[in-house]
Amino acid sequence: MGARTGKEFIEKLDNTPRELWYGDQRITGGVSKHPAFKNIASTLAVLYDMQHRPELRDVMTYESPTTGKRVGMSFLQPKSKEDLSRRSAMMKVWADFSGGMVGRSADYLNSAIMAMASARGFFAKNELDFGGNVQNYYEFVRENDLLLTHTLVNPQVNRSAGPSNQTDPFIAARVVEKTSEGVSIRGARMLATLPMADEILVFPSTFVRTGQDDMPYANAFALPVNAKGLKFVCRESFSADSTYDHPLASRFDEQDAVVVFDDVLVPWDRVFLIEDADRANRVNEETEAIVFMAHQAAVREVAKAEFILGLASLLAETIGADQFPHVQEKIAEIILTVESMKALLQSSEARGRINRWGIMSPDYVPLNTARNLWPRVSPALATAVKQIAAGGLMANPPESIMASAMRPQVDKYFQSKLGNADERLRLFKLAWDAVGSSFGGRQELYERFFFGDPVRMASAYYNWYDKEPYKARVRELMHRGDRV
Ligand SMILES: Cc1cc2nc3c(=O)[nH]c(=O)nc-3n(C[C@H](O)[C@H](O)[C@H](O)COP(=O)(O)OP(=O)(O)OC[C@H]3O[C@@H](n4cnc5c(N)ncnc54)[C@H](O)[C@@H]3O)c2cc1C
Repeated sequence: MGARTGKEFIEKLDNTPRELWYGDQRITGGVSKHPAFKNIASTLAVLYDMQHRPELRDVMTYESPTTGKRVGMSFLQPKSKEDLSRRSAMMKVWADFSGGMVGRSADYLNSAIMAMASARGFFAKNELDFGGNVQNYYEFVRENDLLLTHTLVNPQVNRSAGPSNQTDPFIAARVVEKTSEGVSIRGARMLATLPMADEILVFPSTFVRTGQDDMPYANAFALPVNAKGLKFVCRESFSADSTYDHPLASRFDEQDAVVVFDDVLVPWDRVFLIEDADRANRVNEETEAIVFMAHQAAVREVAKAEFILGLASLLAETIGADQFPHVQEKIAEIILTVESMKALLQSSEARGRINRWGIMSPDYVPLNTARNLWPRVSPALATAVKQIAAGGLMANPPESIMASAMRPQVDKYFQSKLGNADERLRLFKLAWDAVGSSFGGRQELYERFFFGDPVRMASAYYNWYDKEPYKARVRELMHRGDRV
């Protein structure tokens, strides 16, 4: 098949019966028509169609090394720095389309599975060809242009105890039994953004203890979302119908779900790790999947910071607040974020090197810095928008007022220094959706947590970062005997 069109994506979505729970509704088919999913489905279809636009074709796709068909650029196993630039150019096109609001476009997990396939030697275990499984799965996803979701974290029941020490050992998803057909899994995981994907990856993220009791939880595998017994418990939708009143929520609400495994059979050819805490704890770093996910995330974060910069600047200029020094300072702080994130991204590509698995990997030092910096600086972007737009964010009547008897007064009282009432309402509604509505609130939470708990990430960063050269410099000065 190769790179999909939007129509092909929607057809597969609607024709793959799955178990999506939305409140008391069990949605099995026609997902693209359901109010909670139709808008993001339509957005994803537009992203897939971009792969076929003549002017974008060479940016978005490349020739498959096995079939010669055009496939998505985020599957490219880079061999040069130029390839890294090709990957990020493609990802930027998708990220810019949503102003960085769609975090889990297909390129995020395509990047992970691409890196894991290059590192297939990591998965080899005894007579079981898990490395071959990863390679076959990567090619299957690439050639069919499938959309992946993933779930890494155990349910948030009691974080002071590990999965085997909860009140029920089957709260966190784990192995029930192994048969000649495969592995049976029971329990749950959170969260899976984009439950309207085609496939789900189940990977370890946080540290798994190596005691025997925790082994049944140390697994990695992939399943089609319609696997028997697999259920997605969706949160309330933030999607909306009016693109005028909710310009972002009406397009980009990705949806998040808790995933329940009701004795789901994972066939052996879909197993990548099983009861293997040692590899589970090393898989993301050693395969460099985390590096390529961080690369995609940095591209999107640059896109989002740039979008917020445009938004804040327009807000300030529109109401004539751009001359106030503190408003200029806030916008300057957004620019600092834009330029810092861009510099980290660019240096990661410029300092790329062929990794131990033979592909060109962006330098992880700037990318790990970016992924630790972003949860700290991105909430400030949203705060700046609120501080600049202030009460104007609430002077925001529904679009229908424009067709009411109040229209003359709206035209008079809702105009701005730079625009008429319609322009001003559109801008302020966009701002509220970005930083204040249910959709905007989820965006802030997403940026804080999508890559993991920032507190534990910072500890890991502290332990990983090479501080020795700087300590040596201090020691050298302490003991220097060179006064003249
Ligand atoms: C919008 C959104 C979308 C997401 N999408 C996905 C997805 O698609 N796939 C996916 O796998 N995950 C997804 N996640 C989940 C994300 O991976 C987790 O939120 C993140 O790993 C943090 O885990 P947690 O939410 O369970 O928080 P917890 O681990 O429960 O943390 C709660 C609090 O306790 C503290 N805490 C807990 N344990 C420790 C500890 N050992 N040491 C110190 N402090 C601790 C934390 O710092 C935090 O303050 C998403 C999250 C959000 C918010």
